Amino acid sequence: MKTSQLFTKTLKNAPADEVALNAQLLIRAGYVYKEMAGAYAYLPLGLMVVENIKRVVREEMNAIGSNELIMTSLQNKAVWEPTGRWDEKVVDVWFKTKLQDGTEVGLGWSHEEPIVEMLKQYVHSYKDLPISLYQFQTKMRNELRAKSGIMRGREFVMKDMYSFHASKDDLDNYYTQTIEAYKRVYARLGISDDTYVTFASGGAFTKFSHEFQTICDAGEDVIYLHRGKNIAINEEVIDDAIKELGIAREELERVKTAEVGNIFNFGTQKTDEMGLYYTDDSGKQQSLHIGSYGIGITRVMGVVAEKFADERGLVWPSAITPFQVYLVQIGTSPAVTQAAQSLYDTLLAQGITVLYDDSDRRPGEKFADADLLGMPHRVVVSAKTIETSVFEYKNRTSQDATLLSLADLQMQLTK
Ligand code: ATP
Ligand code: MG
Repeated sequence: MKTSQLFTKTLKNAPADEVALNAQLLIRAGYVYKEMAGAYAYLPLGLMVVENIKRVVREEMNAIGSNELIMTSLQNKAVWEPTGRWDEKVVDVWFKTKLQDGTEVGLGWSHEEPIVEMLKQYVHSYKDLPISLYQFQTKMRNELRAKSGIMRGREFVMKDMYSFHASKDDLDNYYTQTIEAYKRVYARLGISDDTYVTFASGGAFTKFSHEFQTICDAGEDVIYLHRGKNIAINEEVIDDAIKELGIAREELERVKTAEVGNIFNFGTQKTDEMGLYYTDDSGKQQSLHIGSYGIGITRVMGVVAEKFADERGLVWPSAITPFQVYLVQIGTSPAVTQAAQSLYDTLLAQGITVLYDDSDRRPGEKFADADLLGMPHRVVVSAKTIETSVFEYKNRTSQDATLLSLADLQMQLTK
């Protein structure tokens, strides 16, 4: 794509009320637009990042046999009543509204109850199990605070997956497979070195849920790390965990983190509350075993933005960057334009994504944009480079540029 066709321009300043670094950078770089606190629009560049994250997650969920679907945002009050979760004293993030005839409806903050209800129509026998379903959906949560930019939205994209099993063992096995799939997701997104599976702090679910926490100064959570033993403990369970694991508090390092994923093993609790059963091979009615597995897609984007950014702007891992290359043309002579266009065509034909800055702005402005936008590679075509048939190449994270032949450049970009 050429910058002349791109909807957004970079901005000198983020809105004065935006305190989160991730949102400040994403707004300045033209990835997101702030509608109001906790509500961000994803502009073309931002949407590309979201879609790239979704692609990685989709591939890994498909690989463990899950099916993608999309459920509704409008939710039925009656579906949430049997578990007590329509009650705002139980769930404090509801957005609720009314139909014209006065019927109360909720806006989906989770889809656990609705999907259990849906399954009643499709699961009757042990032959219908196991089944795993997932979606990417915009969740609506009336969060008390929304000061972490896209890391905590009142409206945000989540991947939520639900699995249904005939036995405890089958669910436990799938739960473990999902932990491994999540680890692959975070590895592909470039954050596995700093992402830990912790015991979660889910009250009654303590033993039956896990959080995936990524070290991030802007995160809202705290975990205690034992790097030697590779143990991560959520702050809320620290006293119990210390006792249980037989470690000393002094051995633990306190770090700030963001929760990028959360998984729950509900056992048969929800099934029993909501009346979802199946008949086993002897014709007896049995309770289903259910797991629920979330990843905060837009939160992950915020965490990556926040973690890798430097003083010059965003730095995207290659798996999720909107474009691999930021191509800068310096000068407007026909020879330079032709050389830049020809490189652009060559790279596209090779399957390398390029954002080609074809504007007539000053080189300094273009370089500043290249840094702010955060694509992994910057390539410059100028009168000087075409004279010696080379290209100026710089990686986003290095200080110095080097001159490369076309073949060497192509090699560099596909490494
Ligand atoms: P938190 O403790 O951060 O509020 P949660 O326990 O409410 O998270 P879940 O309901 O398990 O989160 O949601 C699954 C995932 O969705 C979380 O692990 C997180 O990555 C993401 N998520 C939750 N709330 C938000 C939000 N307000 N904005 C963006 N992402 C969110
Ligand atoms: Mg929450």
